[in-house]
Amino acid sequence: MSNELSNRIKSLPVSQTLAMAAKARELKNAGKDIISLSLGEPDFNTPDFIKNAAIEAINQDYNSYTPVDGYAELKDAICAKFKRDNNLEYTPSQIVVSTGAKQSIANIAQVLLNPGDEVILPAPYWVSYSAIATLCEAKFVEIPSSIDNDFKITPEQLEAAITPKTKMIFFNSPNNPSGSIYSEEEYRALAAVLEKHPQIYILSDEIYEHINYGSKLFSFAAIESMFDRTITVNGLAKAFAMTGWRIGYIGAPEWIAKACTKMQGQITSGTNCIAQRAAITAVSADPSEIKYMVEEFKNRRDLVLQLLGEIEGFKLNVPEGAFYVFPDISAFFGKTLKGKEIKNANDFSMFLLEEANVATVTGDAFGAPDCIRMSYAASELQLREAIKRIKEVCKLTSELV
Ligand code: GLU
Repeated sequence: MSNELSNRIKSLPVSQTLAMAAKARELKNAGKDIISLSLGEPDFNTPDFIKNAAIEAINQDYNSYTPVDGYAELKDAICAKFKRDNNLEYTPSQIVVSTGAKQSIANIAQVLLNPGDEVILPAPYWVSYSAIATLCEAKFVEIPSSIDNDFKITPEQLEAAITPKTKMIFFNSPNNPSGSIYSEEEYRALAAVLEKHPQIYILSDEIYEHINYGSKLFSFAAIESMFDRTITVNGLAKAFAMTGWRIGYIGAPEWIAKACTKMQGQITSGTNCIAQRAAITAVSADPSEIKYMVEEFKNRRDLVLQLLGEIEGFKLNVPEGAFYVFPDISAFFGKTLKGKEIKNANDFSMFLLEEANVATVTGDAFGAPDCIRMSYAASELQLREAIKRIKEVCKLTSELV
């Protein structure tokens, strides 16, 4: 019997973040002393007040199917959060709760993109954006940026990337993997370009909004002319250390929210009942409740920048948010280690894994082939040890002769 897979799955790349995390886990289980800086996952525990809300929900017998778009109380709490943090006025009919922000993004792509549509991705971008666009048979159009302009794109670049086929732009600030945050002025300059092209929708992924080291938060949808064509994506994973709970949500024009609900109704139905009950507590919590995590991430960022800055060949920017550094390591291209040439970021990342036992993710996966991503959502001890090992192996590289 033939077991030929569909072209769809055959053309889908594996998620490099998840693949590297799985590889690190596998090596660890095999007894190797691996330090994994690959996955973007807070190393804190979910705060007790959220855990208690989940326990209470279990004891109150929340066990039935949930409304496909989320519990009414959760949608009300999300509307209040959007008002409180983002100055956005959504009504509950504009909210859809999903099984992680990743599902929210996949829903949006599925309901808006037709084959042949173009999706603009300011690079570097999170690995799954391009894969999700590809699944919809859309074409993704990268706008490159570089560490020299803090990995941000300009309005001129945006204008040049737009064609009559452009349907969407996937925008992400604070950015995974660069940690860059666009200012209100920068948002408005990009919006001025988009105003001239009313056929373009904006997916604004704000999942890292609370992991922010002092920049003023701003949302794309807060620009009046953008509100009716922006889908604001957020979730609980990063801010509340709830990656495994899988709660994401959107605020969107009602017709898009309805379409996402229809899509989700055929694919997964409503999100897990216990996680949703806990989410009501999390979303309603004052952001100061998680300040201790943000402060710790900032300390680690400063430490990592200082230690990596001592390694020749690592070019760094200062991330303003999220929990990644994204060094340009192209200075190592063309060098050799143990007779093996480092040709690209993938080789370099594999070299760190094999020689330093440190897992990172290649920048190719993020549309930035000169860089690697390192997550500093790890303990200070692990970060110090990882960078010490990296420094030692980098010293062993030599020029190609
Ligand atoms: N978003 C996180 C990351 O970039 C989690 C893994 C994933 O879903 O890609 O590492």
